[in-house]
Amino acid sequence: MTRYHIGVDSTDSATMGMCTTYLGAVLLEKLSDIPLELLSPPELIRLNPNVPWKTRGNGAVCLRFEGPDGLWEDILFILENTIWNMSVFEDPQTNPGCVIVQGEVPESFKEIYQRALHEILDLDMVKEVGFTADAILKGWKNERGLIGALAAVGADLSEHTYEAILYRPGGVKDRERKVDISSLQKATNSYPTTFFNVDEKGDPVCIPHSPCPVILGIRGVDPSDCLEALKLVEAEGYERWVLWKTNQHTDSHIEMVDDISELKPYSSISAEVIVDSLPKYRDGGHLFFTVKDNGDHTAVCAAYEPTKEFRGKISGLAPGDRIRVWGSVRKEDVPDITINLEKIEIKDLIGQYSDSNPRCPKCNGSTGSMGKGQGLRCKKCGYRGEEMTPIREKVERSLKIGLIEPPPDAWRHLFKPSSIPELKEKPYNGPWWGSGAP
Ligand SMILES: [Zn+2]
Repeated sequence: MTRYHIGVDSTDSATMGMCTTYLGAVLLEKLSDIPLELLSPPELIRLNPNVPWKTRGNGAVCLRFEGPDGLWEDILFILENTIWNMSVFEDPQTNPGCVIVQGEVPESFKEIYQRALHEILDLDMVKEVGFTADAILKGWKNERGLIGALAAVGADLSEHTYEAILYRPGGVKDRERKVDISSLQKATNSYPTTFFNVDEKGDPVCIPHSPCPVILGIRGVDPSDCLEALKLVEAEGYERWVLWKTNQHTDSHIEMVDDISELKPYSSISAEVIVDSLPKYRDGGHLFFTVKDNGDHTAVCAAYEPTKEFRGKISGLAPGDRIRVWGSVRKEDVPDITINLEKIEIKDLIGQYSDSNPRCPKCNGSTGSMGKGQGLRCKKCGYRGEEMTPIREKVERSLKIGLIEPPPDAWRHLFKPSSIPELKEKPYNGPWWGSGAP
């Protein structure tokens, strides 16, 4: 018997539909016939969210099977046919790639995964890694999908969540889905280990509006709860479902840094910094402020308009506040290093004070200064209090210690929300995919 690890990426289109996970769902069915047995949960792998030419969510898939030796030609035949038939070749951003690795996953693939979360990788370098490891590579058009395909095979899911996705046939392109919202709200309430289903107002955030085959996806930390919650949702027109194991919502794209002077464009970072200027709104409702690290290096932090009320919540920051920031580093199109904020944590708030003059001890009238260091004088009765000084009072800050994050609409796939349940998952022995209803 041989283990076969299959990675696929860049088959979908943001504007013309399809979804690489749907192609993965179809592959699960086709490959189970030849005969291969699924070794581990199907994997949905999100890579660097800052890659400029990503298709939609920069998501690749990896399927790991076990089967008779020498089956790679049959697998490749099915892969090539499925990708050829289903990919959106018309979209210039769609550049499919697939990879087959037999046996153990090479260490070099694991390194590619880590780098593909943070960097823009060179295709020729990645292909070289594949060929050196005797992997089978097949790319179409500019072949850039090979990077994600290879990275997906090397993925480390020691930190992970799950997503149970319900699909409609690939040919359906409607932007609207027929999903009963009250059943979705009920599913959310019944399974608290799921998240990202509805927002605070109860409006759905797990139903796409694109022409892709996804009807909805239930995300959570427990596989069985995700699937059970999906079963409670009443939806029409479904064709199949897959329960994906994924690096979504784990902050895997984030690198911890101390020195913000060396931030690289397209990376995503987290750093503890001191606020250096008062937040100010600029054109388009974007909020900006500067921060500095322990070495006095400065960077600009930006909370853009789509982060909505997040901007208002952090606008009360003041110079001297100690915060941790998470965000992506913008490309070099702005003069200063700019961090596009995903969330912040307030570590320490600087004390803010206001001075006010005490009332007159004789008539309780208001008092005014008689000049620097010369005490106060009553404006009503003229009493002169030469020893009287203004009273310094601590101002109540609008902010509190802790995490502040944007509403779910602004979350990216890898964003780890503070509300994510810390629960351990229960053992799951059920199916990972199926036709028809879950
Ligand atoms: Zn007085």
